[in-house]
Amino acid sequence: MAGRGDAPRPVAELLLPGLEGNAPVVAVAGAPAPVPEGRRLELTGLDARTALVRQKTPHGRRAPWFDWSANPYRGCEFGCGYCYARYSHGYLGHDDPRAFERSIYVKSGFAQALRDDLRRVHPGDHIAFGTATDPYQPLEERERVMLGALRVLLAAEGLSISITTKSALVARDAALLARLAERHAVHVNFSVTTVDARLARFLEPRAPTPQKRLEALATLHRHGVGAGVFLMPLLPGMTDSEADVDALVRAACEAGAERLGAQVVFLREPSRSHFLRELRRAYPRVAARYAWWTRTNSRLPGEVRDEAVRRVRAAAARHGLSMSGDGTPPRPRRPQQARFAFEVAADA
Ligand code: SF4
Repeated sequence: MAGRGDAPRPVAELLLPGLEGNAPVVAVAGAPAPVPEGRRLELTGLDARTALVRQKTPHGRRAPWFDWSANPYRGCEFGCGYCYARYSHGYLGHDDPRAFERSIYVKSGFAQALRDDLRRVHPGDHIAFGTATDPYQPLEERERVMLGALRVLLAAEGLSISITTKSALVARDAALLARLAERHAVHVNFSVTTVDARLARFLEPRAPTPQKRLEALATLHRHGVGAGVFLMPLLPGMTDSEADVDALVRAACEAGAERLGAQVVFLREPSRSHFLRELRRAYPRVAARYAWWTRTNSRLPGEVRDEAVRRVRAAAARHGLSMSGDGTPPRPRRPQQARFAFEVAADA
């Protein structure tokens, strides 16, 4: 999420396929956009005053699996129907939950902010990229905010770094990530909900196919970068049958995944209304079930969640992949280095 001090600065509009029909094309100054034509995408620059957000443990709750979160963008082009982070665009003045995938905020100065923030980080701390938006969404191909952040981290050592993404674009940085893995504990988590490409297209309309994500995982694996698969979110009644889960875990294993995480979807507003609307178009019975499950609570009933995670745990055991007991992401191992150092590299 953006720091509270981030100041929005309108930049431009792109036109992407599918949403706005014959809307006029408004070109973005600079390099050609890495997005197809035909659908409107509004870009806004944010001056990033901070890059890292400290994670606090809510009273009486378990500590999160990371110490710091880092998100180079706000909003996400991939437009997953269930995406929990849609609410965050409300803080930027957007009422329509679809704005999350149409209005993207690019944090300029992110690398410098990260360089500054690293002075507050302790040895072995875990920085998680992509906790709220995908750091390798298509704009990254042009904006390279994530790339700049990784280069800054080359000047440090002794941290745990994880990246969660649905994008095959992360393979672009495979060599750089391999270099980083010599200095930090590095892990890339590919979010894959199903290997059914058709269902994935419905759920995650502009994300790379599951096959492409797993190919990117295999590329990282070949470069010696630790990678795993997050079955997140698990969608009971849609993606959690024994056969579906087994097919996904098997494919993850074959691609070189080292471990799994799994978490059942939760639907807080406005994501709940948005997802139910999408579901009703294609899967009205499933929509009715989700509406009932979440009528009083954004989390699905405990027995539904437990059963879905149990299936993943069983499949993980069958295929020899590690997974934490309750399915939450495993906390990355502490890096080998006993020493923590950070040097300001002028050309990082
Ligand atoms: S890729 Fe992640 S951040 Fe982007 S829309 Fe999908 S769930 Fe949300």
